[in-house]
Amino acid sequence: MVVGAGFGGLNTVRGLVGSGAEVTIVDRDNYHGFWPLLYQVATAGLSPEDIAYPIRAIFSGNPQVTVRHAVVTGLDLEARKVRLDRGEDLAYEYLVLATGSSTADFGIAGVAEHAFPLKTLRDALRLRNHVLRAFEEADGEPPGSDGLLTVLLVGGGPTGVELAGALAELIGTNLAADFPHLDVSRARVLLLEATDHVLGGFSTKSQQEALRALSARGVEVRLGAKLAEVTPDGVRLSDGSEIPARTVVWTAGVRANPLGELVPGAKAPNGAVPVSSDLSLPEHPEVFVIGDLAAVTDKRGRPLPQLAQVAIQGGKHTARTIRHRLAGEPSTAFRYHNHGIMATIGRGSAVAELPGGFKLQGTVGWLSWLVVHLVFLIGFRNRVLVLVNWAWNYVTFDRASRVILDDVGPAPADPLTPRPSGPSLGQAL
Ligand SMILES: Cc1cc2nc3c(=O)[nH]c(=O)nc-3n(C[C@H](O)[C@H](O)[C@H](O)COP(=O)(O)OP(=O)(O)OC[C@H]3O[C@@H](n4cnc5c(N)ncnc54)[C@H](O)[C@@H]3O)c2cc1C
Repeated sequence: MVVGAGFGGLNTVRGLVGSGAEVTIVDRDNYHGFWPLLYQVATAGLSPEDIAYPIRAIFSGNPQVTVRHAVVTGLDLEARKVRLDRGEDLAYEYLVLATGSSTADFGIAGVAEHAFPLKTLRDALRLRNHVLRAFEEADGEPPGSDGLLTVLLVGGGPTGVELAGALAELIGTNLAADFPHLDVSRARVLLLEATDHVLGGFSTKSQQEALRALSARGVEVRLGAKLAEVTPDGVRLSDGSEIPARTVVWTAGVRANPLGELVPGAKAPNGAVPVSSDLSLPEHPEVFVIGDLAAVTDKRGRPLPQLAQVAIQGGKHTARTIRHRLAGEPSTAFRYHNHGIMATIGRGSAVAELPGGFKLQGTVGWLSWLVVHLVFLIGFRNRVLVLVNWAWNYVTFDRASRVILDDVGPAPADPLTPRPSGPSLGQAL
């Protein structure tokens, strides 16, 4: 039984194909989402279907794999059962928990109510709708509505940096042309970061390059800016200053998915579940926890980051371990192989840090970013669509998905993982 069809769960199931095991994979969504490109959906560069792939299609025609579209709401590790939201219990011999992470607001007032998260396709569409609607509203208004065209991003990690760069490009090229009667120079993209650098975890050289590339795109970066409150009209900082902004995006906080709370025992500070060296639970060797949900350390005892590669390698390792166990062989310890980190700031600009100290920047970094993301995207059709979209965008500067979809409401109530859904369009505009 594999819970979660993200990077970790999917690779576990793929690794078990052909093993003779009967595999059930359960996910609350009917698709696998490629989250590293989510910001491109939010900024009209890609459509939702370009970065999502139906789970059933991945395993179609394979009777060894059963796909269930349901939310797992309960675990009984003693009885070896998981409970689904519709009340059904499913029994297992081996269980793999791979439900990823969720947004954390660190208790900052107004984040859950007034800021947009960026964790799901629904989040990305709502943000895209909201930004496009703000421009439509400003088009019919006399200048002066404070903050109407300000997009304020909180958190200078890779998601905040990538989103800021892409938003600045969307506004500066497409929206400037779409709204000839609007003074688009009024629009602002602000990136707030509480520490003294963006892209924590990258080298100082890459951080400086990211700051330079953001500034070249007109993004205003404020380092050392600590958020105190998000209001319907903007934000208040810990020094008491206020910034009016109709759109506030929260990318600063991540914690383990709440399913981890159902696993008995102590948790890491971010809610992740501590595991043994083979990624199983010490008290339940038949239960594995992988990806963002697991608290795993490297050889030096440092926690592994919440990255797609950690989940992918954890999924593959778990499939091998289950195969070994089925053959009566012992488990081996999980070793993470760091393939590097990268972030793109926009067209022709990225920073990449590879093992061995190799650093790439600018166009070369950007091309390597493009190739890596295409290779890891699931589904041949999606790769072709994304490649065509990028080529089109590169030649024409056109971020073509500038469509307001009115029916994207707040996230439906999820019995276990209430996702911060941000403001509704009606409320905010
Ligand atoms: C916007 C964004 C950008 C990112 N960019 C990068 C990047 O550039 N590079 C990088 O390496 N990493 C990036 N990451 C992080 C990366 O996506 C995660 O580390 C990775 O997805 C973790 O894999 P996972 O399998 O643990 O979880 P996920 O891939 O998130 O999969 C979890 C799955 O579990 C399902 N699920 C959750 N709860 C339940 C439940 N109760 N019942 C049933 N199903 C459930 C979810 O629907 C989901 O399909 C990014 C993440 C985000 C959100």
